[in-house]
Amino acid sequence: MSNIKQAIVDPSQVDSELIKALEQAGIDYVVQDEVAIKKNYRAGKKQLVVVDKKGDALDTCATISDHYICCNVKVLKSISNCPYDCSYCFLQNYLNDGNTKVVGNDTALIEEVKEACFKQPDRIFRIGTWELGDSLALEHETGQAQRLITAFRDIPNAVLELKTKSDSVNPILNCDHQHKTVVSWSLNANTIVETQEHKTARLQERLIALKKVTEAGYLVGLHVDPMIYFEGWEADYESLIRQAIQATRPDQIAWISLGSLRFNPEMKKKIETNFPASTITYTEMIRGNDGKMRYPKPLRMRMYGHVINVLADALGCDDLSPQTGFDKPLFYFCMERWDVWHDLLGASPTSIQDLDYLFAQSLQSRFFPSLPIPNKADYAV
Ligand code: SF4
Repeated sequence: MSNIKQAIVDPSQVDSELIKALEQAGIDYVVQDEVAIKKNYRAGKKQLVVVDKKGDALDTCATISDHYICCNVKVLKSISNCPYDCSYCFLQNYLNDGNTKVVGNDTALIEEVKEACFKQPDRIFRIGTWELGDSLALEHETGQAQRLITAFRDIPNAVLELKTKSDSVNPILNCDHQHKTVVSWSLNANTIVETQEHKTARLQERLIALKKVTEAGYLVGLHVDPMIYFEGWEADYESLIRQAIQATRPDQIAWISLGSLRFNPEMKKKIETNFPASTITYTEMIRGNDGKMRYPKPLRMRMYGHVINVLADALGCDDLSPQTGFDKPLFYFCMERWDVWHDLLGASPTSIQDLDYLFAQSLQSRFFPSLPIPNKADYAV
């Protein structure tokens, strides 16, 4: 359970399914028209605000950049802010309103998803709810993921991604998901979980949850991101990878991503102010093509190279490149350049669209053979 103690509900949402979940979870709520903006992102973490859907909720992941090979995942903005408190969290520098908001009107969210997917029936969409929060951290209070899982089951060309640092999986274990939902974890070396990922589920708790959803037949995803440098990182990341692969089954892993610590330059001061005990800003960083600070390439290459070797060994495959076949989880980097892909995997997708197409090919051939074989032209934009 999260540390949410109370909720404020917009009058338009009093009949929503979400309210039933709140009541079942024993969360007290008041119905209120206006909710004051919370200037501090931490001030809103203990209270839920149930809001109506306003404007478009479906978008492309905000970090997409032509400087990198991005994956072109779509995001459904169903939540904003998060009960957890990671030192590197970009929300501390991003949210104008620190209230933890959740859209009560998930029927409207689903209608928007359906409209977009039905307009391009030959394209496979990957849609995540994690852009401005955690997909499952509030599941006991909101039940939102359960309703989305049921809705995505009936959208032939869309896959839902629920990305989390929680272990809140019990409510979704009995959903009729039909393999249309990928439950994924943001995972890190135990040292980083213990020192930087405050209030999240501990690593062992996440791994137990990963095992549970695997046994419930879900597709899963593993995101080792952001990799953070510290003394002894090699052994800690190796142990993480081996435990994660052991907790699941390679034939149910839809995708695995790697990324390293990165943030806008102005975040450094925020991290140092909000997390005075954290040392993550001490390692040398340089400004990347997108303006974000990241480790210099040689260090990133060393860290990625090590994890790739361990992953290949743990999965029992020689070559992780998505371009050499779809008989393995789709491996990709988050926000890295062509040269990093080339140097570590020997090949690179040619563009963001090309990587999106590789995802579609992998999903269709591994899990959804009844869908039409993807056509590259459908992924041109
Ligand atoms: S789990 Fe994600 S959204 Fe939540 S505090 Fe950590 S980094 Fe931020």
